[in-house]
Amino acid sequence: MTNHPAAPPLLDDVIEVVVGTLTFDLGRYLIAAGLMSAIVALVMRTRWRSRRIQPRTAPRRDVIREILLSLRTVAVYAAVGMITMMGFRLGLLHEPAGASALATAGYVALAVIGHDAYFYWVHRAMHHPRLFRRFHRSHHRSVTPTPWAAYAFDVPEAVLMALFMPLWLLLVPTPAPAIFAFLAIMIVRNVMGHAGVELHPRGWVAHPLLRWISTTTHHDLHHSGGFNRNFGFYFTFWDKLMGTEHPDYARVFDAVTAVKADSLPSDRPRIAWLAGEPRQRI
Ligand SMILES: [Zn+2]
Ligand SMILES: [Zn+2]
Repeated sequence: MTNHPAAPPLLDDVIEVVVGTLTFDLGRYLIAAGLMSAIVALVMRTRWRSRRIQPRTAPRRDVIREILLSLRTVAVYAAVGMITMMGFRLGLLHEPAGASALATAGYVALAVIGHDAYFYWVHRAMHHPRLFRRFHRSHHRSVTPTPWAAYAFDVPEAVLMALFMPLWLLLVPTPAPAIFAFLAIMIVRNVMGHAGVELHPRGWVAHPLLRWISTTTHHDLHHSGGFNRNFGFYFTFWDKLMGTEHPDYARVFDAVTAVKADSLPSDRPRIAWLAGEPRQRI
C-alpha cells in the first residue's frame, strides 16, 4: 500500500478498496462469461453442437438484459466486498497465518461445501411464492440462459449472494489464497451452469462419484421448466436428499450427451419437458 503525499492515508485506503473490489468483481464476471461464451461459440462449430441442451436460442434482448442485470450485481458485490475489506482492516475479520498448501486446499473445499448448502437453501427460499417476484424473478426471465446470466439477479438476490462471503469469513477465518481460489471456482461453475451446452463427459450422472457433482443440464432444467427442481449449485446431494432433483435429469443428460450423427437438438426425440410439460408461470 502506498500513501500519496497529497491525500490523507484514510482516503487513499478507501480509493484503493473501491477500485480493487470493483475491478475484481467486474473482471471476474467479464472474463469468465466472455471466455465461456467464446467456448460455446467454438463448440457450436463442431459436432458437439448436438450437445446444445435446448433447441431454442436465447434472443439478443435476453443477453442484453442478462449483462445489464449482472453489471448491477457487480456493483452490489463490490459494495459488500468493500465492507468485507473494511472488516479485515478494522480487525473484525482475520486471516489465519501460515496455512500450508494442503490446508489451503482444505479451506477451499470447506468453502465450496458451505456455499453449496447456503445456495441450496437460500435459492429454495427465494422460490417461495412470497419471495419469488421480489428476489428471484429476474434470474428466471432467462428460460434459455447464456453464460452472461451468471449474475443476472434482482438486487435482494444479489445482496443475499454477496453476503455469503463475509458471513463465512466470520465463521471460518480463511487464508486469502483460499478465498481467491474459492471465488474463481464459484464463477467458473456459475458460467458453466448457464452455458446452454453440456460439456461434462457422457456417463457423468451414472458414475458413482461424479454423479454427485452438478452439470450444466442440471441447472438448465431449473431454468427451462423445472423451476421447483434442481436448486443445487456445485453438487447434487441436497437435491437428492431433499427429493427436489428433476425426475428427468438423468434421461435428459443422457439424451444430450448421446453419441449421434451430426444432429441438432431439434432432430432428437422430444423430451417431456421440452414437449410442452406445463411450466410454472413467472
Ligand atoms: Zn431459481
Ligand atoms: Zn441460473
